[in-house]
Amino acid sequence: MDMHSWYKEQTVERFLKYAVIDTQSKRDADRRPSTPGQMELLRLIRRELEEMGIPETVLYDEGYLIARIPASPGCEQIPAVGFMAHVDTAGDVSGKDVKPQMVCSYDGSDITLGSSGLMLRASDNPELQECVGRDIITTDGTTLLGADDKAGAAEIITAAQYIMEHEEISHGPVELIFTSDEETGAGMDCFPVKDLQSVCCYTLDGSGRGSIEAECFYAVRADVKCTGVSYHLGRAKGRMVNAVTMASSFIRMLPQSESPESTEDREGYYCALSIQGDVEHADIQVYIRDFDRSQAQRRANAVKDIAKAVEAAFPGGSVTVEITWQYENMLEGISKHPAILETAEQAMRTIGIEPRYTSIRGGTDGARLTAMGIPAPNLFTGGNNYHSRYEWLCTDAMAEAAAVVTQIPMIWADRFREKSK
Ligand SMILES: [Zn+2]
Repeated sequence: MDMHSWYKEQTVERFLKYAVIDTQSKRDADRRPSTPGQMELLRLIRRELEEMGIPETVLYDEGYLIARIPASPGCEQIPAVGFMAHVDTAGDVSGKDVKPQMVCSYDGSDITLGSSGLMLRASDNPELQECVGRDIITTDGTTLLGADDKAGAAEIITAAQYIMEHEEISHGPVELIFTSDEETGAGMDCFPVKDLQSVCCYTLDGSGRGSIEAECFYAVRADVKCTGVSYHLGRAKGRMVNAVTMASSFIRMLPQSESPESTEDREGYYCALSIQGDVEHADIQVYIRDFDRSQAQRRANAVKDIAKAVEAAFPGGSVTVEITWQYENMLEGISKHPAILETAEQAMRTIGIEPRYTSIRGGTDGARLTAMGIPAPNLFTGGNNYHSRYEWLCTDAMAEAAAVVTQIPMIWADRFREKSK
């Protein structure tokens, strides 16, 4: 069997095994991980890694698994490198009773999703055309697929198997990291970062073939509190100040041309995310997102200016703004160490893929890990249309992602030896 077919067979088999375990995570749960299925999958992965002969696998009660492949003889001095995937699936669509559909040698036409009546249309999915002649996995239209991020997990584990079975490969220490509750935003909340030995970590949680994501938003939250003055509505003239009206006036002053609905690519935005209140108090939560730190700061200042303007328009009322920086553009941490992205690019080119950079219009666990001091760019998994019934996965891209993961520790070792010469 040639190498590509081996990678494909292994990643597909693993993915199908993981896909049927319901690992949907739940927001605002009072335990970690938020749902029992995630721990079930982590235990299964741990057994698999142990069976491969990986000597050290640590499963944390909070829902993290860290496995360590020791350096090959003579490579002990090479800094450790990590690979990370999350085992949970998104809360938006059910992840229970997932029944993956296999489409072999895709012919470029629309794909019927089971008997659900849904269609994966070629016209809505230009990426499908890149996969003509390749094999695709879709849902049956009743659930999500969970390629986000079980494809990433299957690829990392397959690469680990390859490294364990090929003693001739020289590589430094490799850490395999599996996390839970990524989709709830709490994935890194209890992460045992002090136990990590890796100097950098590649997250396998990206999308189409060849993509490298090294950049995400700067994220700022503004908590706006409008305070009014309540009076009997029949005697309110000249005395009542309505906080609900103030809040509505505040939201109308946010530029609609700079909202998520009207921006794309590298454009930032304001988004009024929630509003609640009554005549006396009304609270608004505003998200500010931008790839540029100074632009994010400018928007935060603009929100404060709007608050002052509303206050001036409603004498007797008050508006306060509390600004919280939620996460940072990870490019800031990653670009300090050019070897990290250069190694990923070289790994892709070695197997015939031209890398392309895309920006994440959101945050990732990798961004939070980068903020903790371990730069963590995101690599492709072969999955598309995440968090939906239209999720699909190119199995050939999955095989290629596993090959990239195998290449990185080898290139990392070569570079280190070059440098120490
Ligand atoms: Zn993901």
